[in-house]
Amino acid sequence: METNKAKEIWKKACDFLSSALSPDIYGRWIGVIEAAGDGPAEQLTLTVPNGFYQDWLEEHYLPLIQKALSAAGEENLTISFEVDGSRMVEKSVDAVETPVIESGRKAAGKRKVLKAYNAGGALNPRHTFDNFVVGPSNTFAHAASLAVVEAPGRAYNPLFIHGGTGLGKTHLIQAMGQALLNRGKGTVCYTSCEAFTNEFIQALQQHELAAFRKKYRTIDLLLIDDIHFLAGKESTQEEFFHTFNSLYENQKQIVLTSDRPINEISNLQKRLVSRFEWGLVTEMEMADLETRVAILRRKRDQLDIRIEDGALFFIAEHIRSNIRKLEGSLLRAASYASLLGKPLTNEMLEYLLRDTIEQENQTALTVEGIQRMVAEHYDIRLGDMTSKQRPQNIAFPRQIAMYLCREMTEQSLPSIGNAFGRNHATVLHAHRSIGSKMKTDASLRQTILSLQQRLGGVTAPG
Ligand code: ADP
Ligand code: MG
Repeated sequence: METNKAKEIWKKACDFLSSALSPDIYGRWIGVIEAAGDGPAEQLTLTVPNGFYQDWLEEHYLPLIQKALSAAGEENLTISFEVDGSRMVEKSVDAVETPVIESGRKAAGKRKVLKAYNAGGALNPRHTFDNFVVGPSNTFAHAASLAVVEAPGRAYNPLFIHGGTGLGKTHLIQAMGQALLNRGKGTVCYTSCEAFTNEFIQALQQHELAAFRKKYRTIDLLLIDDIHFLAGKESTQEEFFHTFNSLYENQKQIVLTSDRPINEISNLQKRLVSRFEWGLVTEMEMADLETRVAILRRKRDQLDIRIEDGALFFIAEHIRSNIRKLEGSLLRAASYASLLGKPLTNEMLEYLLRDTIEQENQTALTVEGIQRMVAEHYDIRLGDMTSKQRPQNIAFPRQIAMYLCREMTEQSLPSIGNAFGRNHATVLHAHRSIGSKMKTDASLRQTILSLQQRLGGVTAPG
């Protein structure tokens, strides 16, 4: 069927649907549908932004949609839902220019209003210390951030915060920016390393290096998010090295975040590595259950959404790897709760969040799954993976399991260490030792490869 015809038919169906459904439900479920004109003549293709809509619509609204089409005189059409991924893609603002936000005397009386942009530009007003829930996983990073805001350029310089994605690094670094601005203590620049790089390249191309340097070397608090992006970018590293020195010498504060530890950022100049270690390095980990519940409660109050404590617990128990996913799940659950007008049962939550929960289970599987698989392969007990004993017949498989965890999971060294009842240095040692043995030992290489295949991490060569 051609597009115009499809749109015309769908519009008629919508007239029917809008009179049959409440405006809230119509807007939420029908409003997102678009008619498309591909496929055979008797087929009406309806596109939706993601698989969740597709499932929900097929399950709950298909009969009604068919009825609407009949009412529009189109009884014999087949309806096919399709996901059109491009529709939900957020348009990121192409903000090459990173704003420097001023406060204090210089800008007194006309303090700039903070705005949230999508691209690594300005500060998100929700990312404040007040909104940041403190728990064992982030106590240290939080305390260090507060100390920096108390005495910028003097407490810890630079402050280097690392941790996996979605654990709150951006939130914390932006909170520092806002806190300093609120105190009127000088100029703050928050930017992502990617935006910094783009801006540098643009300055190079347009012969505006002097202005670029002046801007970045006269800031009181420079916050650079995701500094791991510097990996392999030689000339940006060179430039950043000088920016760093100039700020540091003038006792200006530098704060950096990274999704991995400094020594794991590949192709980073030694002199930058050592500078990043000058101040304080702190790691953020995933929040424990209580903190996750507290974060969900805080979010619920902040967004003024109605959802039961029981549902919050369910979400906190099942989403264990990433706070961004935790929030996404809360929003999804809350939107159905409001639609339903009654509390969500655990079965409903399980259905609503099944994709995310499945992903969680896969990641959760890996460390233990690897231990289990390796233990089976070497015919030792799972408990041997964490025991303190070190006879060679146990120690070697244990090292292999550590090696595989390091290679195949997103877990940090400390958390892998934890899972084996050991510290990060042991994991690092095991990883190096197995890695170097593999270079000379073909049968070990074969063993590792076959274990990886069984774990589903790599496909067989050829
Ligand atoms: P990262 O930069 O580490 O990838 P973000 O800072 O973007 O993670 O955090 C992801 C989401 O989780 C954000 O919406 C943030 O506000 C929220 N978040 C993370 N940690 C906390 C916390 N401790 N308290 C409240 N919200 C948090
Ligand atoms: Mg971030």
